[in-house]
Amino acid sequence: MSRIFSGIQPSGELHIGNYLGAVKNWVALQDQFESFFCVVNYHAIIAPYAREELERRTHEMAVGLLASGLDPARCTIFVQSQVPEHTELAWIFNTVTPLGELERQTQYKDKASRQEQVMAGLLNYPVLQAADILLYRADIVPVGEDQVQHLELSRVVARNWNSRFSPATPYFPEPQPRLTATRRIVGLDGQAKMSKSIGNTVGLLETPEQIWDKLRGAVTDPTRQRKTDAGEPERCATIYQLHRAFSPAETVAEVEENCRGAKWGCIDCKKSLHQHMVAELTPIRERAAELASAPSQVTALLDAGAQKARAVAQETIGAVKDLMGLPRAV
Ligand code: ADP
Repeated sequence: MSRIFSGIQPSGELHIGNYLGAVKNWVALQDQFESFFCVVNYHAIIAPYAREELERRTHEMAVGLLASGLDPARCTIFVQSQVPEHTELAWIFNTVTPLGELERQTQYKDKASRQEQVMAGLLNYPVLQAADILLYRADIVPVGEDQVQHLELSRVVARNWNSRFSPATPYFPEPQPRLTATRRIVGLDGQAKMSKSIGNTVGLLETPEQIWDKLRGAVTDPTRQRKTDAGEPERCATIYQLHRAFSPAETVAEVEENCRGAKWGCIDCKKSLHQHMVAELTPIRERAAELASAPSQVTALLDAGAQKARAVAQETIGAVKDLMGLPRAV
């Protein structure tokens, strides 16, 4: 059975961009592959943070993932810092990663240009990501579109390491991204990628009232001034895209017809979307509330997940050290 790995940062609330671009796919894939899903808290500490907040968010992220349908009986779900082999392999990979490859990553260039002092962790982030994936020798990585360039780097790392230390039979696979139809969800501003750092998100666990407040203000087809103007769904980046993600095909057809025919105003269209979003998200919110009321149970699930992950991780690190002439841990 092929292995899949994917991770998510506990740097804020789980939003519907994360859900549609990644997490919903993880839930669907957990029965088809041996699956490892990780709350990547070592990635989150690259930005300055408050200790209590990081602890709370790490726990909340795990609650959100479990509530979305990740089932510890069918996949391995864990927190990155509980499996120290991630950072061990990252160090090893640093020694086979050309600096130029890291410097040309767009996310690095973007973030570094906005900071006065750039920490080495920001540059090395994709090396840790390569270690996250390859520690499980995963060949498929279900992610959103923004992660595709980082995955290219994981393949460079795997190739470089293999060519030096296991040229005859490559030890590491070259992991490929697995994208969904909803690989890039646009935020409520109708322009940028939905992202915590931009503040244009809808939280996965928001109440129906909160979701409605967000949808009501969302930007639609900018050329449609009045309800009597014909609209064009393709120009309505956010609401139309969310309809296609949450609403049944008949509703999507109805939206297209009523928008182009100026029979629905944008508020009518948003009300219809709201109804379908709430139908899908309410059971998730209810499960999350149940899990949040039993924090020690969630912690126990994560501890057990880390133990399962660690068994695989130790096997990989052991084999890597053998191939590199480094004594194993005792
Ligand atoms: P964020 O970008 O909000 O900081 P992460 O970097 O932790 O979130 O990403 C977690 C997963 O969610 C990744 O697989 C990423 O590709 C996916 N993802 C994040 N934002 C979006 C989006 N707007 N549309 C689709 N997928 C997304």
